[in-house]
Amino acid sequence: MNATPTLQDIASCVSGYDPNALPVAQAQEFIARLVPRVQAVEMLPIRSALGRVLARDIVSSINVPAHDNSAMDGYALRGADLSATGDTVLQSAGTGFAGQQFDGLVGPGQCVRIMTGAVMPVGLDTVVPQEFVKLDGDQVRVPAGIVQTGDNRRFAGEDLALGEAALIAGRLLRPADLGMLASLGQAEVPVLRRLRVAFFSTGDELRSVGEQLDAGCVYDSNRYTLWGMLQRLGVEVLDLGVVRDDPAALEATFRHAAANADAVITSGGVSVGEADHTKQVMASLGDVLFWRIAMRPGRPMAIGRIHSDGHDAILFGLPGNPVAVMVTFYAFVRDALLAMSGAAAQPLPMLRAASTAAIRKKPGRTEYQRGIVSRADDGGWQVAITGSQGSGILRSMSVANGLVMLHHAQGDVAAGGLVDVLPFDGLV
Ligand code: AMP
Ligand code: MG
Repeated sequence: MNATPTLQDIASCVSGYDPNALPVAQAQEFIARLVPRVQAVEMLPIRSALGRVLARDIVSSINVPAHDNSAMDGYALRGADLSATGDTVLQSAGTGFAGQQFDGLVGPGQCVRIMTGAVMPVGLDTVVPQEFVKLDGDQVRVPAGIVQTGDNRRFAGEDLALGEAALIAGRLLRPADLGMLASLGQAEVPVLRRLRVAFFSTGDELRSVGEQLDAGCVYDSNRYTLWGMLQRLGVEVLDLGVVRDDPAALEATFRHAAANADAVITSGGVSVGEADHTKQVMASLGDVLFWRIAMRPGRPMAIGRIHSDGHDAILFGLPGNPVAVMVTFYAFVRDALLAMSGAAAQPLPMLRAASTAAIRKKPGRTEYQRGIVSRADDGGWQVAITGSQGSGILRSMSVANGLVMLHHAQGDVAAGGLVDVLPFDGLV
C-alpha cells in the first residue's frame, strides 16, 4: 500500500507552487493530487441511481436490439427483388408485428407487411415505408427509386453489442443511462456511496435566520449558498450551523465534522489579518496550508487534511465574503468533490462571448466577474458585467447568468473583445 503523501510532498510535485501568490491552475493541480476517492460500493435499483456515480463498467450481457428488426411500419422485402428501372410489384405473404414475428417462408417476388420493431423475416433485408406503396389486393407496388437494399432495417446489437462496455465506471448516471441499463434488463446498478460533506460558518458577527440581528451583525448567507451548491452536486450534506469565534467551540465542531464527513467546508476566518481562532484550530487538527491565491474574488483559502477519531477529512477553508465563497467553490471545490465522489472529470462548457464594454484586468491573477450573457444581433454571444463586482455583493451572482473568466495572464479587455464565460445553467 502507498503511504499517503504529505501536503509538502504534494507541493513539491506542483511546479510553480508559491503559497503566497498561488495561480489558480496550480491550486487546482494541488487539490487534484490531494483528494482521495470513495471506495465503498452499493447496489441500487435503477431509478435510485440517477445522479450517482457508476462504480464498475457495465458490459452488455445481450444484444440490443436482440434481432434485426424494422425501423418503419411498411413492407419488408428482398433488396434483390427491386427493379433497377421501374416499379416493383410484390406479393404479400403475411404480417409481422412487434413481439410477434412472421415465421413463414418468403419466396422470391414476395414481401411481408411489417410493423416498427418487428423481427425481420428470414431472407428479407429492406423495408419500404407503407406511405410509399400502392396496394391492389395482395399486390404491393413499390415505386421506382423509393428504397435501396438495406433501408429501414435495424441490426441486432446496433445499440448495444453483446460483450461491449455500455457504460464506464465513473459515469454520473443521467436519464439516458437509466434507460440503457433497463434495456439490458439490469434491475440493479453498482454505484459508489455518496460523499458526505460537512459545512459550517465561522464568525462572531454572524446570526442565523430566525435570530435577532444584533447591532454590527449580519445574517449568515454562506450556509445557504453552500447548501444549494452541494445539493446540485448530489452529495450528502451535514449542516453544522454557525460557530462562534471560541477555540473550544471551533475545535469541537471541526472534530465532529472530521469524524463524520469525507470533506469539511468552512467559510470565514482564513484571511491574513484574521484575529480569530479559526486558523489556529484548523492547523492543530491536521496538516493544513493557508494559501493566498492569485485570484479575485477569493484570495485567502485553507486547504488540508484534518483528523478525528482515526478518521481523515479533506478541509476546504473558504473565504468569508459571500461571492468569494461561491467563486472558490466553483474554481476548486466542485471538481474536488466530484473527484472524491469517484466521478470522471466533468469539465464545464464555456462560451466565447463579446464583452459589451471594456473590462479592466491586471495580468497575474484570475478574475471571475459576474455577467449576463445574451444573444447579440449577429447571432453570436455577448456578455455584460453586472455592475459592482465587490466580493460582498451577492446580488451580482443572483442577477448574473454566468461567470466571466479572465485568465491569469490576460490583461484589459476592449469593448467588443472576446472573453470566456462559464454559463450557470445546470451549475448554479
Ligand atoms: P472573513 O473572511 O471571516 O474575514 O469574512 C469576510 C467578510 O465576509 C466579512 O465581512 C464577514 O462578515 C463576511 N462573512 C463571513 N462569513 C459570512 C457568512 N457566513 N455569511 C455572510 N457574510 C459572511
Ligand atoms: Mg471572520
